[in-house]
Amino acid sequence: MRVAVIGAGSAGLAALHQCDLANTAEHPVEVVGYEKTDKVGGTWVYVPETGKDSYGLPIHSSMYDSLRTNLPKEVMGYPDFPIPENDKSYLHRTEILEFLNNYCDHFKLREKIRFLHNVELVEPLESNKWRLNLRNLQTNETSSEEFDAVMICNGHYFAPALANLAGKDVFKGQQLHSHDYRKPEPFADKRVVVIGAGPSGMDLALEISKKAKRVILSHHLKETILTKFPDNVVQKVDVAELKENSAVFKDGSEEDIDIVFYCTGYKYSFPFLSPKAGVSVDSNMVQPLYKHVIAVEKPSLAFIGLPFYVCAFSMFDLQARFVLKFWTNECELPSRQAMLQELEAEKRERFEAKGFQKRQFHMMGPLQGDYYNELALAAKLEPLPPVLTKLHNESSNRFLEDLVHYREDRYRILDTENYVQLN
Ligand code: FAD
Repeated sequence: MRVAVIGAGSAGLAALHQCDLANTAEHPVEVVGYEKTDKVGGTWVYVPETGKDSYGLPIHSSMYDSLRTNLPKEVMGYPDFPIPENDKSYLHRTEILEFLNNYCDHFKLREKIRFLHNVELVEPLESNKWRLNLRNLQTNETSSEEFDAVMICNGHYFAPALANLAGKDVFKGQQLHSHDYRKPEPFADKRVVVIGAGPSGMDLALEISKKAKRVILSHHLKETILTKFPDNVVQKVDVAELKENSAVFKDGSEEDIDIVFYCTGYKYSFPFLSPKAGVSVDSNMVQPLYKHVIAVEKPSLAFIGLPFYVCAFSMFDLQARFVLKFWTNECELPSRQAMLQELEAEKRERFEAKGFQKRQFHMMGPLQGDYYNELALAAKLEPLPPVLTKLHNESSNRFLEDLVHYREDRYRILDTENYVQLN
């Protein structure tokens, strides 16, 4: 079986490694990775520039200079390659990138990756194989390759979702999305409205407050976020309208502003995927997929890494193992109809019972433990240790309680169930 892995970020690396482990004499698996940049690490590769790269492609990474992780390293490693002991739990982006490079070298994955190869088309063939159209960015030559199966690992933090604010064409100041944020200096002495209070909005409101004159964190959460922000940060409801030099909020108040800073998240995007694959994206819901991973209409296509608010690297590893159990015929997939029924039941549960919106279809958070167990059960795999979910949830709560200080916390995992807080 020839498998193509698209992308060499943390998901693609896990996919390559698990393909290697699944390769046996009885069921040979040959894997090729395609990566459009010249590095592994995906979004953890800091690129000072914004806009287009030197090959004319949009810059993929959304990483900013000062970033420290919002999860402790104890839950950020891979099951068979944890992040080594360190005097802190929340690492700088450079340490995560170094870790990913160490993972890549330890498992000898680099030689399997064709760097500076952009995947331009992924299309199913009548033979049940997949054709990949590729562009070698160094020579600009195009070529095609056929594979039996494809793992899509292209990330989902690169295509900005912009809020369509009334008056956005009237506003005379600067408007930018967090994808293009690198450093706080351009915000010096500015009055900034930050749109959105997800992890990026909260972190970046705090970061730019060190330079900006005034930061207005605008969000539609029902309650004020309780974390203690510096004095020059205020919280407001949604923006109703932008005017030439100001923002009017839904409570009727108006503020003079210089910059609108969109921390409004990202769109799932698979620009290379042929509609013939039978997968569509509707308001950030990628479907129809079996357990957020395997394409129901063409099960030799899989997506690694769609769920968010998860223990990302461990989940990528688990999802890759899950897929390979079916692809190597160690486990049998349910029928198409059974997979579709399960999907409909999950939609009812999320949308009707829990009141989620479509864009939250792949959101895990408190549901992540059950999700990991379901993957493990369906493919007869070792489940992820419950301590990961516990610690992830504790860290997320601490983030909301005390954004300014929670990264000073230190943890140690004791066993598969328990952890201690060291300070
Ligand atoms: P990516 O890292 O985006 O990698 C995708 C790769 O695919 C890239 O290398 C890209 O070049 C390549 N690619 C894309 N399209 C093509 C193509 N057509 N052809 C060839 N190659 C292609 N997670 C945490 O767990 N903890 C954190 O603290 C954390 N902080 C974050 C902070 C920021 C600012 C952002 C943006 C994300 C953060 N995340 C964090 C989430 C992070 O995205 C995941 O941890 C993880 O790195 C995603 O890995 P990935 O491999 O799925 O995607």
